[in-house]
Amino acid sequence: MNPGTSDHKVELIDPFQRKIEYLRLSVTDKCNMRCFYCMPEHFKDFEQPEHWLNFDEIERVISAFAELGVSRIRVTGGEPLVRKNLNALVHRINQLPGVEDLSLSTNASLLSRHARSLHDAGVSRLNVSLDSLRPQRFKKITGSDLQPVLDGLMAAKEAGFSPVKINMVAMKGINDDEFEEMVEYCIEQDFTLRFIETMPVGGTGLKATDHYINLAEVKARLAQRFDLIPGVMPGGGPARYVRVKGTNLRIGFITPISQHFCETCNRVRLSVDGTLYLCLGQEHKFELRPLLRQGISNDGLKNAIIEAIAIKPEKHEFRDKPDQIVRFMNMTGG
Ligand code: SAM
Ligand code: SF4
Repeated sequence: MNPGTSDHKVELIDPFQRKIEYLRLSVTDKCNMRCFYCMPEHFKDFEQPEHWLNFDEIERVISAFAELGVSRIRVTGGEPLVRKNLNALVHRINQLPGVEDLSLSTNASLLSRHARSLHDAGVSRLNVSLDSLRPQRFKKITGSDLQPVLDGLMAAKEAGFSPVKINMVAMKGINDDEFEEMVEYCIEQDFTLRFIETMPVGGTGLKATDHYINLAEVKARLAQRFDLIPGVMPGGGPARYVRVKGTNLRIGFITPISQHFCETCNRVRLSVDGTLYLCLGQEHKFELRPLLRQGISNDGLKNAIIEAIAIKPEKHEFRDKPDQIVRFMNMTGG
């Protein structure tokens, strides 16, 4: 496939015939929280600033992806709002031809200040991590205060984000007595709720087996209290949805462990240092930063991306090899 010689619209198809149309862009590996399942408490081994892709470099990479048919971009981290001038970057990405859907994953603690400007800059959808509504428990999980997050969520609503999706990592012995409460909160606030199974990433001490809950159990439990009916959610992500009858609430279940969704995987991840990771649970990667800094042409960059997609593995092996060490989640943003 040569992007320079074809008049046809080029698509990125991996060796398993999956069309790649979604890029998760990590704009920083730093975070103002320390969720224990994501990053070790005293983690300091962050990427050197001189290795961060600058905004021009990020724009070039996204532009190349967009020309190859990748129309959906999610900005993530680490905590993306700790990257300076994120609004300006978001605005630039939103202007790029071919980018049709721009979303952001955040812990929302800094969102009060930024919600409106991010919305104005073109972010259309927000995912917010929220594992507990109880301040002390929230602090235990994240090392941070809950209130700024709740304030950030209100600011997001006021700024017009719709839908706001709450991501709750379901953890036995940690927050498994709070699922119903979170459902009630999301009904009240008109948010969408997604439960996530814990993944054994980065060797943070959290093994899938330590706090893992199969979300089939969570769904069965919620069905005793709420009338759940099959539902769909536009967006093409890996969550399987139900709706709570008599309300607007949709609940999604993201089950990387109990029912993995690798056969429909449509995404790759770009870390802050310009490394393209081809799978969340595997080390297959391709470094774009050296090429960018050696002055590669746009066609050269597109060819490099095509070459990278050719090494996308078939699936993660979280279940078969839970001890396999992959990078921390803050490097690729989940
Ligand atoms: N800081 C932002 C946030 O928390 O939403 C964006 C980055 S965070 C790495 C993205 C998502 O990954 C969050 O929803 C978080 O709960 C999830 N995550 C992190 N570590 C995880 C793990 N070990 N298992 C399951 N989900 C995890
Ligand atoms: Fe930070 Fe998000 Fe990881 Fe929590 S899950 S430590 S908020 S990057």
